[in-house]
Amino acid sequence: MENQKNERKILYIDMDGVLADFESSIKRYLPEWDNLSDEEKGDRTDDICGSVPNFFLELEPIHGALDAVKNLAEFFDVYFLSAAMWNVPESYTEKRLWIEKHFDSSFRKKLILTHRKNLNIGDYLIDDRTSHGAGDFMGEHIHFGTQKFPNWTVVEEYLSKVVMNNQ
Ligand SMILES: [Mg+2]
Repeated sequence: MENQKNERKILYIDMDGVLADFESSIKRYLPEWDNLSDEEKGDRTDDICGSVPNFFLELEPIHGALDAVKNLAEFFDVYFLSAAMWNVPESYTEKRLWIEKHFDSSFRKKLILTHRKNLNIGDYLIDDRTSHGAGDFMGEHIHFGTQKFPNWTVVEEYLSKVVMNNQ
């Protein structure tokens, strides 16, 4: 059993923008979000996320994400790979609690918080951005939200084919 587990490909999954709908929540506090520069977004996000209690814990799951992850965990060794907000220390705790809120105990201890995602060894990374090392990941970066991988239906189908081709 343990052997079989070790043979499974390692699949990392980002949280914000892939599992958790960060953008919808931040836009509730910052309707002008789409018109801000990246620098402005960073500053304003720190302020809002640091002052709204449980901001991260209460993020809604992205459509289809929870079921897809549960299905994929049958075939992949799944880890959550997320960059928490350094200036918002509560985000570290709330990401851990978010996993517990939405997944069963088989996902315990599967959370990795880092700003250097490329240092993690693995086969696939589903991430909506290239920042924090995602673009330099050693395996395949499945760029969530792009034309090729617009949503979880497409991503799950793609990874299911990967599993079938490996059998
Ligand atoms: Mg993200």
